[in-house]
Amino acid sequence: MTQAKTVLITGSSSGIGKATAKLLAAEGAHVVCLDRPQDDELCSKVAHEIGGSVLLADVSDPESPAKIAKDLQERFGKVDIVIHNAGVTRDKTLARMKKEWWDQAVDINLTAVARITDALLDGPMQDDGRIVCLSSVAGIAGNMGQTNYAASKSGIIGLVQAQAKALAKRGITVNAIAPGFIETRLTAAIPVVIREGGRRLSNLGQGGMPQDVGEAITFLCSPGAVGVSGQVLRVCGGALIGA
Ligand code: NAD
Repeated sequence: MTQAKTVLITGSSSGIGKATAKLLAAEGAHVVCLDRPQDDELCSKVAHEIGGSVLLADVSDPESPAKIAKDLQERFGKVDIVIHNAGVTRDKTLARMKKEWWDQAVDINLTAVARITDALLDGPMQDDGRIVCLSSVAGIAGNMGQTNYAASKSGIIGLVQAQAKALAKRGITVNAIAPGFIETRLTAAIPVVIREGGRRLSNLGQGGMPQDVGEAITFLCSPGAVGVSGQVLRVCGGALIGA
């Protein structure tokens, strides 16, 4: 399906990014695994397992978009598919929220996505490509103690809707995935009682797995998904949040 496609996945050392890297590599794509310089070992391990490549960058570094675009151009001459998956939580109620926690969540989860896409579109991004951005059900419904995270993930929904219109003339589709509770490092950091509640707040009554999200991303990256753009696909097991 994605044979000979070059795919960039941000945050691919763990969780949803890692699962997606494996699925797209199994489809025949060459996956460029991007993660922070301090995650070199984990990132290299994933890339090695799937016959992919490594690109180390902090997506929120203002110099990263140009560096990523240049690197992809020089090494591969193109990128066909971009998965904006890198993300963080910096949970606090607004009363306790430090400015740097707000900024980190918004910079990594939203601003970096817009800047990297812009740099790639002016460089190695191919026409008829695919862009998939990770939102969240928190970006649809909000969540107590996650105003910064919810705002950033809600921003992703606006971004894909705007970009889908702008990029239609190049045949590029842009969509968002809104996962519910998925078993990853991100949710392992949630206090145990809230974590258990998160698992049960879905029709399936359990947390989802990273592969569940990866399968939906894989579909949106396929040639057959050409008619789907500017959409938000919930992968949440029928979560009650925002339903
Ligand atoms: P994870 O922590 O396992 O993976 C996140 C990855 O992003 C890590 O590899 C991390 O090193 C990388 N990353 C973080 N900051 C970065 C930066 N500045 N530069 C480059 N890489 C960076 O978490 P996950 O659950 O797999 O999350 C993946 C995406 O899915 C995130 O955008 C997250 O917000 C979203 N999401 C997850 C859930 C869930 O329940 N797990 C729910 C909704 C949305």
